[in-house]
Amino acid sequence: MSALIRTLFLWLSRRRRAGDWLESVPPADRLLRRFVAGRNHDEAIETAQTLVERGFRVTFSLLGEDVAAPTDANAAADEYRTLLERIAKAGLASESKIAVKPSLLGLGLNYETALGNLLSVLEAARWVSVAVELDMERSDSTDNTLALFRAGVRETPTLGVAIQAYLRRSGGDVQALIDQRIAHVRLVKGAYSEPAELTYSSPARIEKSFHDLARVLLDAKSIEGGASLGVATHDMRLIAEARTRAFRKQTPADRWEVQMLYGVKPSQQQALLDQGYAVRVYLPYGPHWYPYFLRRIAERPGNLWFALRSVFSR
Ligand SMILES: Cc1cc2nc3c(=O)[nH]c(=O)nc-3n(C[C@H](O)[C@H](O)[C@H](O)COP(=O)(O)OP(=O)(O)OC[C@H]3O[C@@H](n4cnc5c(N)ncnc54)[C@H](O)[C@@H]3O)c2cc1C
Repeated sequence: MSALIRTLFLWLSRRRRAGDWLESVPPADRLLRRFVAGRNHDEAIETAQTLVERGFRVTFSLLGEDVAAPTDANAAADEYRTLLERIAKAGLASESKIAVKPSLLGLGLNYETALGNLLSVLEAARWVSVAVELDMERSDSTDNTLALFRAGVRETPTLGVAIQAYLRRSGGDVQALIDQRIAHVRLVKGAYSEPAELTYSSPARIEKSFHDLARVLLDAKSIEGGASLGVATHDMRLIAEARTRAFRKQTPADRWEVQMLYGVKPSQQQALLDQGYAVRVYLPYGPHWYPYFLRRIAERPGNLWFALRSVFSR
């Protein structure tokens, strides 16, 4: 039953017309605030400032995906450059990263468009010393995203990339990144609906894959080779396992951190921070929040009730 509900919400997340409508109606402002840091970069920076004051690190992520034309992809790159300037002006550079969705930079149109946009964003990020990570999207773009990452890391050696534990191929991908000494990985379970033959389907198997990948990345040899790990999950058991491993291996504190989504388990985020973990909050922002919002509902349909309650309560 829960798999069916998840599939339904993931299907809804791809309905553009429903999204266009919901994104434009005023009461939705309260709905989006449940998981989204603001409709524009100024609002997102305000949200970030409060979090940074409390001791969190942040990752800004412009919402949107699968642009229809190169002009839209270029506009997204422009927005990222403006965001980077604002982050620097707000004095948030050292605590901030930006996360970039390859399809928003035009990867679905062609590789060259996305690469040109990525390189221009990376150059702007180097100027203000803000780190960048590539999000990982559907499996039909994994190869191209990794190619973008390898091209980008030549220009910006700190560039990071998300790896999805639900993909069967990820063990090989992570090992190749370690061998090339460019394993700056944000490890996630994976959020998309994918063909069964490419993914592990049972939650237990996905957790095992996550655990195994984190173990390899925190291995002393990987760390010596420059690996770093963002443990990007709300699964407290996986976070605790990573911490135990990092403690045993004496992983330097600047090589691993916990990453969680804005609005998801905020009290646990605070508790981890209080226990001394480095915690980074991923802050999605922008007017096109519908697909992202629906993916969060798919992960936990009960969120819909909480979000609707925030619309109707005063
Ligand atoms: C910082 C960050 C970046 C990410 N980047 C990517 C990416 O680039 N590509 C990609 O495919 N995916 C990405 N994801 C999403 C990820 O793949 C998962 O879909 C998502 O994190 C849910 O899985 P989980 O690891 O939290 O584990 P789950 O097993 O889903 O959840 C663990 C616990 O957290 C609770 N929980 C999980 N989600 C929610 C929620 N929305 N609301 C309330 N409680 C919840 C669950 O109820 C459960 O108790 C990212 C996630 C994070 C945290």
